[in-house]
Amino acid sequence: MKPVVFEPFRIKMVEPIRLSTEDQRAAFLKAAHYNPFLLRSDDVLIDLLTDSGTSAMSSEQWAAMMRGDESYAGARSWERFEAEVKDLTGMPHILPTHQGRAAERLLYGHLGGRGKVFISNTHFDTTRANIEFSGAEAIDLPVAVGLDPQALDAFKGNLDVEALERTVAEKGAANVAAVILTVTNNSGGGQPVSMGNAKAVQAVCRRHGIPFVLDACRIAENAWFIRDREPGYADRGYRSIAQEMFGLADAATMSAKKDALVNMGGFLTLRDDRLADEITQLLIITEGYTTYGGLSGRDMEAVTQGLKEVFDPDYLDYRITSTRYLGDHLMALGVPIMRPVGGHAVYVDARGLYPHIPVDQYPGQALVCELYRIGGVRCVEVGSVMFGKYDAAGALIPAAMDLVRLAIPRRVYTQSHIDHVVQSFGRVVKERDHAKGYRITKEPRFLRHFTARFEPV
Ligand SMILES: *Cc1c(COP(=O)(O)O)cnc(C)c1O
Repeated sequence: MKPVVFEPFRIKMVEPIRLSTEDQRAAFLKAAHYNPFLLRSDDVLIDLLTDSGTSAMSSEQWAAMMRGDESYAGARSWERFEAEVKDLTGMPHILPTHQGRAAERLLYGHLGGRGKVFISNTHFDTTRANIEFSGAEAIDLPVAVGLDPQALDAFKGNLDVEALERTVAEKGAANVAAVILTVTNNSGGGQPVSMGNAKAVQAVCRRHGIPFVLDACRIAENAWFIRDREPGYADRGYRSIAQEMFGLADAATMSAKKDALVNMGGFLTLRDDRLADEITQLLIITEGYTTYGGLSGRDMEAVTQGLKEVFDPDYLDYRITSTRYLGDHLMALGVPIMRPVGGHAVYVDARGLYPHIPVDQYPGQALVCELYRIGGVRCVEVGSVMFGKYDAAGALIPAAMDLVRLAIPRRVYTQSHIDHVVQSFGRVVKERDHAKGYRITKEPRFLRHFTARFEPV
């Protein structure tokens, strides 16, 4: 018998999934111009588009929401939220925001501007966008092994510290506005960052007087990998590992839509009093008063409770092993994936799966469409549709890789749902030679993957 991933929760409320036939899905796909972003969620069986804001909340979170104090200023919900985030991060200044990118805009809008440089293991796309929008430059310095899809390194999310030293020297420390460590590193499916790497990055920042910022969206999942893989942490609690990492940083941003197990929320935390004063002005102007930011009292209650639950060892074990379960079973089918499997997603190498589909016919889009038609599984292309550009002659400049991301919502799907995904891949593999490429028939200028239209070649 195959190993069972025991889900450490039972189901109290259900959301029906509307079943559909393959013929129906072929018609839905055509009507959506072969872009799963344009599908209705009702027509999807298993939605692996993103792990952001898609968590199932617990009974304790729903109960906490009933306690929400919606007072404009000084609400009890704010006091609980502030105490929880202070305890976790050890930082004195807590600024609530409606989601992660609002925290990023506040911090990077303030620290950034023309001539400034930000350095990261990998900037998440909203992080990069906020930095570039301010006029500053965003430089990614992942460790080399992180760029090798098959290398089985323990911490492929690390930042290349030697390259950091070189880049700081080249750009001048005074021009480096901040170094940002994204934990886990979202690109590549949530590859972890070691505590040793965070310490080495902090040391460089200290020496040069550069602020060290954590993008802490998945810091609980990252703590699981540190305890599992980094010497010296096997006896430590997950929360205490996260606290140690926050303790190294001068500031942190967090989208609560990930590891705070809620559908909306975020925060910015700061150590520096003056910086906090200045950014608080911006918070009030653009997000809301200091004791709610962009959040209602009940949202803050749900985040406060979610930040406790996410460090439960049984939850984290289930979370990481269930993601790995999907990766292991896809590998057993011969599906090429990025390895090792990270915390929140499995990435499939669509070029490897469909060597007969030319890159300018978007093998990733082909896989996304096949998976939906065959199994009603929705996921996202992360390749030449998302990142491709055109040269002067109008020919596609493809992305470095054509990947498809299967992101796993937290506490939402059971092992049998994931088995359905695996089974669907079984047919994808069997029918791989018949899969066809796609051409784009209509596209916007920016972020084309959201709204572009396609047709089969
Ligand atoms: C989701 C995410 C963000 C942005 O947060 P939103 O809540 O979507 O605005 C920033 N960084 C990382 C690593 C993320 O995954």
